[in-house]
Amino acid sequence: MIEFTCGCAQKKHRAPLEGYDISQGAIEKIPAILKDYHRVYVVADQNTYRVAGARVEAILKEHGMHHATHVIDRNIVLPNFETLGEIVLYAHDHAAKSNIFEYSPLPDLILAVGSGTINDSCRLASYRLHLPYAVVGTAPSMDGYASAGTPFLHDGTKSTVQATTPKYIIGDLDVLKDAPWDMILAGIGDMFGKYTGLLDWELARDYSGEYFCDKIAADVLDATNKCLENGYALEQRDPVSIKNIMEGFLVTGLGMAFTGNSRPASGSEHIVAHAWELFDLEKGRSPHLHGLEVCEATRLIAIMYQMLLEETDDEHLKRLITRYLPYFNAVEEFCIKMKVPPTVTDRQEILDGIHRALIMRDRYTILFYLRDHGKFEEYANRATDLLLERL
Ligand SMILES: [Zn+2]
Ligand SMILES: [Zn+2]
Repeated sequence: MIEFTCGCAQKKHRAPLEGYDISQGAIEKIPAILKDYHRVYVVADQNTYRVAGARVEAILKEHGMHHATHVIDRNIVLPNFETLGEIVLYAHDHAAKSNIFEYSPLPDLILAVGSGTINDSCRLASYRLHLPYAVVGTAPSMDGYASAGTPFLHDGTKSTVQATTPKYIIGDLDVLKDAPWDMILAGIGDMFGKYTGLLDWELARDYSGEYFCDKIAADVLDATNKCLENGYALEQRDPVSIKNIMEGFLVTGLGMAFTGNSRPASGSEHIVAHAWELFDLEKGRSPHLHGLEVCEATRLIAIMYQMLLEETDDEHLKRLITRYLPYFNAVEEFCIKMKVPPTVTDRQEILDGIHRALIMRDRYTILFYLRDHGKFEEYANRATDLLLERL
């Protein structure tokens, strides 16, 4: 448990994380990190088993730690009933043969080896089985490592369901640096979304009276700046810049746990990105990487803020946006120089996503501000055109 007192309205912040290790060779330290657990249930898919799961298994074996492994051998896009059922069904202790009273047939820890879907599915299994879980990350690709919610695919659409947060997050830089390039770009793209997310949070504080924590927002901003400053070194797969991204996910994940809401991690850019993702799912297309979708939506929302800065008479609003302007410009420059791939390029679909985002979630963001000031339609159209020129 991480705990501290704070000057904000919540006075005290708490997160159920027991520990983390983001370093080169972190996998080798698993026996020490998980020393309190004796029956570890390792869950991976074929790909994550190959890049890290097999090594995890070998380390557990070398240290005489009792474990069982289940490898999912299908391509899974999002957690669904089948994947969850499979993980739960195989979560028994293979060594528990004769006397069921001797020890529980369940493991005492689920160890997810993966990034997106494996982690999300294990988090949900952990919640349903009342078992703690830990994660060995295999790609610095999305900010959901420490999240308490899990996306779930059902009836052709996606919803978010309650789950648990991990006890431990293990990120071995030797594994993470070899992740596919688009996953690395997605990771930094997801972090860029914190800029618009934080500005939305400040907007909500000043124009809708919402709770805000200076310390947590400052920590997230710092972590995001580090990603941006060292971002170009990702091309050389520099361990420091990979570490920055993983630590960024950690800081935002903890921020969500500390505040009890997702403001430290997401704003309008995430809502628009989710709307685009839903179009893909509902039309039977496989969705783009979450972070790439968030990155494009971040560029779109940044354009809206820049338009607002030029046109508003509200001096306070101008000051707020001006502080974020250098970040928006640097993100745009990064995306162009590093050729971050666009996800949605159809004008109507971009627009439909903005419209859907407005009604999808009751959360005060720039979209609500524009609606309340009668500028929503105009800004949505103009920002879409400007975005398309840049993609
Ligand atoms: Zn606080
Ligand atoms: Zn995200």
